[in-house]
Amino acid sequence: MRALAKDNLSLLIQALREEGYEVLGPRMGEGAIIYGPLDSAEELPRGWIEEQEAGRYRLKRDPANRYFAFTLGPQSWKKYLHPPNLCLYKTKKTDQGLEFKSESWHKKQAFLGVRACEMEAILKQDRVFLEQLHPDKPYQERRESVFLVGVNCSRAGGACFCVSTETGPTLKSGDDITLTELEEIFLLEARSARGRAVLGRLPTEEASSHALSEAARQEEHVCRQMGRTLDTEGLAELLKNNLNHPRWKDVGDRCLTCGNCTMVCPTCFCFSVEEMTDLAGLESQRVRQWDSCFSEQFTLTSGNSQRSSAEARYRQWMTHKLATWHDQFDESGCVGCGRCIVWCPVGIDITEEAAVIREKDGASHANS
Ligand code: SF4
Ligand code: SF4
Repeated sequence: MRALAKDNLSLLIQALREEGYEVLGPRMGEGAIIYGPLDSAEELPRGWIEEQEAGRYRLKRDPANRYFAFTLGPQSWKKYLHPPNLCLYKTKKTDQGLEFKSESWHKKQAFLGVRACEMEAILKQDRVFLEQLHPDKPYQERRESVFLVGVNCSRAGGACFCVSTETGPTLKSGDDITLTELEEIFLLEARSARGRAVLGRLPTEEASSHALSEAARQEEHVCRQMGRTLDTEGLAELLKNNLNHPRWKDVGDRCLTCGNCTMVCPTCFCFSVEEMTDLAGLESQRVRQWDSCFSEQFTLTSGNSQRSSAEARYRQWMTHKLATWHDQFDESGCVGCGRCIVWCPVGIDITEEAAVIREKDGASHANS
């Protein structure tokens, strides 16, 4: 484990830029902390934290003036690896016939500030897009070239429950370099050959045992600070056995079917593909766009939506995330980031919905 002076954080960004990476990381924007290009550590939202609750997000100043004391904003890294809009290929009508042109999706990008839950979300999306008979080329090209700098959380947000989902708050694997911000310094750990190469370019020194103890205390503190809990014991079976539970009707009455929860969720991966032509019919683009199981068109078959009510759509989303994802991928689809709770305009809370179904679990609600 190496130690880096806080004033030298810009050297990490500089080293990544010299390796040819476009560095992307957290910055202030749109009244929140969002991800965008970073030229230096000066652009990080240093000294800012946020208050997060169901349906509520507010930024505020933090006298501790740390670089990474904030937790998660509305955006996740999927906006780069699985972009909301992506042109798959273009077609042009020529005298010789149709001409097809596809783009290169390869981008040499470095993500700075990947939290533990976000790393786990990327690994879940890897299973969806890469660990298939036919890996998804746009995702594969971007994923293979991305450099990941993880950051262990020093504070938990009001909607975080990564301890319950065992996806945080400390990074376990997958990133190239892990940072832990302490009071005076950063601890740095390289986890890959390219991580070691970048780390080797920085003016670090061996971390003291005092710094390692401070990091362990910080981790314990974050675990105790979790804003939410989710009892995952037998949860998949519980939900599958309660498909007619009255709580679905209750949540359906509150849900606006806006789809915000699916847009901010770092593991939701559904998309639709559309052909867009110019007015003259000479050129067209095949575009992939994020889709949501909350949209009525999502299950449109033979002129009818298969899930016409909000109740049916919320149930589909939540049972996929916490129950049937296990059947598909042998694990849960939720990393406990809490974004769906914070960015739901009516404050619907997945942990609360699961708890109520558990509390009023009954054979009388069993699916018939
Ligand atoms: S379901 Fe909610 S808490 Fe779980 S990963 Fe998605 S946004 Fe985060
Ligand atoms: S649960 Fe909330 S965020 Fe999700 S679709 Fe319903 S109203 Fe929108």
